[in-house]
Amino acid sequence: MKVLLVFAHPESRSLSGALRDVAIKELEAQGHEVRVSDLYADGWKSAVDRADFPLLADDARFIPVAASKKGFEADTLTGDVKAEIEKLLWADTLILQFPLWWFAMPAILKGWVDRVFAYGFAYGVGEHSDQRWGDRYGEGTLAGKRAMLIVTAGGWEEHYTARGINGPMDDLLFPINHGILYYPGYDVLPPFVVYKVDRLEDAGFGPVAELLRDRMRTLATTPPIPYRRQNGGDYVIPSMNLRPELGDPSAAGFALHSSRAGDAG
Ligand code: FAD
Repeated sequence: MKVLLVFAHPESRSLSGALRDVAIKELEAQGHEVRVSDLYADGWKSAVDRADFPLLADDARFIPVAASKKGFEADTLTGDVKAEIEKLLWADTLILQFPLWWFAMPAILKGWVDRVFAYGFAYGVGEHSDQRWGDRYGEGTLAGKRAMLIVTAGGWEEHYTARGINGPMDDLLFPINHGILYYPGYDVLPPFVVYKVDRLEDAGFGPVAELLRDRMRTLATTPPIPYRRQNGGDYVIPSMNLRPELGDPSAAGFALHSSRAGDAG
């Protein structure tokens, strides 16, 4: 397999850096090819601005969606963005690795998504009609590839459970797993999350590293999260609401889109 690991931590000697090295070593030991985008080390520019679109006239109003579409179609996106798109097309599997900061990904990684997931590449793909709402949510440019998150969190695992004060980790990660990765087509694997890491002593590292090695060994075989496909008939077009007969009637929010367990029949 070809694996792209996008790493978003400012310190290579961090726990995140050590886990990244564990992941890479195990993947290579399994015969996989690995490329890394180390966003801080590479000085990744995270803000979308006019400089991203050389075709945009100085006096033209800047409309990011339109500029992205034109730039992707005309192949005039900046070199750093084009290099990341090339890596995404090369890789069978994408891993995003980051520390949880304010219940989300660090800004530099969000900026990588904002700039690299261009119109025509990651969104705005496919036919829009009364039958289809584009190629997205399980379909799209990156369909057939796998993706997963490696996340470290300072909080306790209990605080991220169904009734935990932080909210369920699956909900916090839903906008990334479903909204960023599943949207352009990836099959999204359950995330690898390490909790309470700020108090992880050296002795705690070994067991965590072993669990991560296991996830790397099973990257090709781990079943993805069973998100519903947009164009599979589960949703009404154009409201894109889940059909009333589907899903556990007591369920609401993200869980409705994540499992077929509550479907009748
Ligand atoms: P490090 O700080 O590098 O290390 C963590 C511990 O691992 C240290 O004790 C270190 O000694 C130990 N360690 C063990 N083995 C090794 C090894 N081989 N190499 C390196 N270190 C090792 N947490 C939440 O849960 N929710 C939040 O919303 C949240 N928001 C945050 C916002 C900000 C701005 C910041 C700075 C932190 C936030 N945190 C939050 C905490 C954050 O998630 C953790 O600090 C982070 O995940 C720790 O990962 P790290 O790689 O930076 O670890």
